[in-house]
Amino acid sequence: MKIVVLRETEGGEARVALVPESVKKLVALKASVVVESGAGINAARSDDDYAQAGAEVSSDRAALLSSADVLVAVNRPEAEDFSRLRKGAVVIGFLRPLDEPAALEPALAHDLTTFAMELIPRITRAQAMDALSSMATVSGYKAVIVGAERLPRMFPLLMTAAGTVPPAKVLVLGAGVAGLQAIATARRLGAVVAAYDVRAAAGEQVRSLGAKFLEVDLGGIKTEDAGGYAVELSEEALERGRQLIAEHARTNDVVITTAQVPGKRAPLLLTENAVRGMKPGSVIVDLAGSTGGNCALSKPDETIEVNGVVITAPLNLPATVPVHASQLYSRNVAAFLSLLIKDGELNIDMTDDVVGPSCVTHQGQFVNQRVAALLEATATR
Ligand code: NAD
Repeated sequence: MKIVVLRETEGGEARVALVPESVKKLVALKASVVVESGAGINAARSDDDYAQAGAEVSSDRAALLSSADVLVAVNRPEAEDFSRLRKGAVVIGFLRPLDEPAALEPALAHDLTTFAMELIPRITRAQAMDALSSMATVSGYKAVIVGAERLPRMFPLLMTAAGTVPPAKVLVLGAGVAGLQAIATARRLGAVVAAYDVRAAAGEQVRSLGAKFLEVDLGGIKTEDAGGYAVELSEEALERGRQLIAEHARTNDVVITTAQVPGKRAPLLLTENAVRGMKPGSVIVDLAGSTGGNCALSKPDETIEVNGVVITAPLNLPATVPVHASQLYSRNVAAFLSLLIKDGELNIDMTDDVVGPSCVTHQGQFVNQRVAALLEATATR
């Protein structure tokens, strides 16, 4: 069984799908791993590191594609790469199956079996494979660093001979994996932190990190689904949240927004008026840019300034911390791969409760019901 890792081609991407440490583990499972020369270079892993871990290193990208049993990627491969893979090969990566399902149609033509890291169920058995959480952790951390860098103030309370410097105030909207990491990071830098989320469970987690939890009376409506994810709120409920947020944004120096509802547009939490009410010199870091943004004024992948308030909406923060982002992602992928390897051979058990739900295409069909339904809806529109 040959596992292939290519150099990522998406602009700004510096991560690599497998680091040498994981290569060693896969080689121990009797798989062979072939890495495109330079694949790990931006994540501080050299071709030599891979060779020492037991991988073969090759510069022939076309040959790598046509000989792969499994292609492991960070981002979805180009349609052209899909067409170079041999029939029946397996592709694993962040394939964006719910955002851009049609882009996976080329996988059908070649009978490819595609697994989306986004679809791995968040059950206890699959925790080691939860790449969404790994990347959200990196994003939450880096959002605070970006905010601190843009802020014309310091974060900690300082008592100096020249007087006292008050601590920065940070507001975090959405206290899921990224939000909680942002809270912890901002606290470590000495900021005073407050956070808002619609899920009741978030309150306790926020307070346990030493931050204040902002509560709003949503009239007892259902805010989360059976899986513990937030649901899309009514306009009235959203509006109550927005008023509370606008009030607090006025006095905060950095606002970090991370609110998402799986499969939907990100909720609009910070209106134009709320931004105009903020102090000049404040910073907004919007992590929901790829799904429409939590701030009405944010522009995906751009940094703008409105009335002295800096608004930045980076789309790929994990790629800016490539060493650790790759290490975590690689561990997640290797844990998932270990479910597909038996005696050094590829063994796909679609009845497995992690393997089956993560699969998007198999034997020429879209096997994931959510993805199939999305495609049908766009076809009949
Ligand atoms: P996410 O990225 O989908 O959303 C981020 C946060 O935004 C969530 O906390 C959500 O409640 C919040 N949000 C949504 N709409 C909002 C609104 N209108 N106003 C304010 N906040 C809003 O979520 P996530 O970070 O991937 O995780 C969400 C939940 O899943 C958390 O409870 C997390 O602990 C849980 N989780 C469980 C596991 C596991 O069991 N293996 C792994 C990861 C996450």
